[in-house]
Amino acid sequence: MRSSTFRVLFCLLFVAVSGDAQIAKVDESLPRLDALYPARGPIPVIYAYGEPYERGVQIGTQLRAFDPDIVPRMAAARWDWVMTGIEHEISRGEILELIPDYLEAIEETMGKDIVDEYIGEMRGVADGAQVPFNDLFIVNLGGHYRKYFIDERGHNLSYYNGADGCSSIAVWGKATKDGKMIASHNCDWARNFPNNAHAAVVMHPANGNPLIYAAPIGTWGSHHIASDRLFVAGLALGKPKAKPRYLMPGGPNGMLQRWIVQYANSAAEARSMLDSKGGVGDRGYASPSGNVVYVDENEAMYLQTAPDKIGRIPNEDGYNLVTNHVVLDEMRSHFVQRKPQAVGDGFVDPEAGSINRRQSEKFLIEKNYGNLDVKGVIDIMSSHYDISSGRDNIFADTACQHGEYKGRFSGTNLSTVVKLSEKSVWIALGNPCVSPYTKLTFTSLEEVKRAADLAMKRIASTPTQQ
Ligand SMILES: [Zn+2]
Repeated sequence: MRSSTFRVLFCLLFVAVSGDAQIAKVDESLPRLDALYPARGPIPVIYAYGEPYERGVQIGTQLRAFDPDIVPRMAAARWDWVMTGIEHEISRGEILELIPDYLEAIEETMGKDIVDEYIGEMRGVADGAQVPFNDLFIVNLGGHYRKYFIDERGHNLSYYNGADGCSSIAVWGKATKDGKMIASHNCDWARNFPNNAHAAVVMHPANGNPLIYAAPIGTWGSHHIASDRLFVAGLALGKPKAKPRYLMPGGPNGMLQRWIVQYANSAAEARSMLDSKGGVGDRGYASPSGNVVYVDENEAMYLQTAPDKIGRIPNEDGYNLVTNHVVLDEMRSHFVQRKPQAVGDGFVDPEAGSINRRQSEKFLIEKNYGNLDVKGVIDIMSSHYDISSGRDNIFADTACQHGEYKGRFSGTNLSTVVKLSEKSVWIALGNPCVSPYTKLTFTSLEEVKRAADLAMKRIASTPTQQ
């Protein structure tokens, strides 16, 4: 085993030294995995501005320029996911027939203006990417639609039950070097396609706040997204006891959180907008509960939400953080207690990984208390420090997650750090321990317009490859 590893290393070294491309060449004719090790490196960036449909077209067109197949592939993968387990009960055709009814139903919970804005943007993305609207609908709303609309028609679909990832920390005041707020979020998720296909969007919408976010391609963005005055993040949080009503309060989370970050001026206002829709949940998937993080320049608000109760995690002096378990005693009775899982000869607490991750991150915040800056926060989000062993451990549940060492596809596939006082967002694609952070800055409408127009012009002048 070991000697063969050395042999491979030796061969690689030989190729590198000799520079002979004939010895080792990727055979493009052979099928390959999308990559066990996820997309990582500098994140692709898209610029968009204007009215919903118009900016959608800009996004879709730029995605198509990255790769003409990327949005159709994303849609195909999301379709498969939506149909899994119900393919014998309902056909794709029947699913499509119900979409207008669904849109009418969410207009009642969300309000027509909100639905028009984000469905309009989605129509633009579809047209720009040259895919049918229904495919983009499934990319953005498939999870919610399946669980809360199709299910009501006599199906009994399971909730999305993955809940082993994501970390969000915020530091400010005495914890940071200059006293200013720095917020962050690591997205831990499956890293095979389509879950590793992300792009960053820099947007000046015609109405509301300018936005910067990284999200699965073709989606609105909602899981971690910044405006020039607010950062919003969502994290999975167990299974609530209360069954969400038909079209759960607030409607689709992706649309709800995107609306909040685009129009709220502060964390407090974000919370009242969430309450105004009776909203719960984390992200655009069919998650009936979730941690919701709202951070402005002066205040960090960490919420744990279930359909029947929202609790706020008290801030420490200069920091707060959350992973994926219930930390508020008042919320515990609102969630189904997770059963210990069999591992090897014993059983493990299913929350142990999340608890370990939060404790490890808390240790690092306290260790660097008073000296934290953007680099310091990036160091924490990229860290493998494991408090249970007191050292770096790539196999443990740490801020930067590596499922590949545990035989899983999951791991950290995006990391976002935001400093609103500097109007800047840093985004790393893939594991932040090895991936560079791209710094994106909130800038004027004129500059975003110039960047978007330039990209669109370049695409228009490039001959289409067929
Ligand atoms: Zn790492």
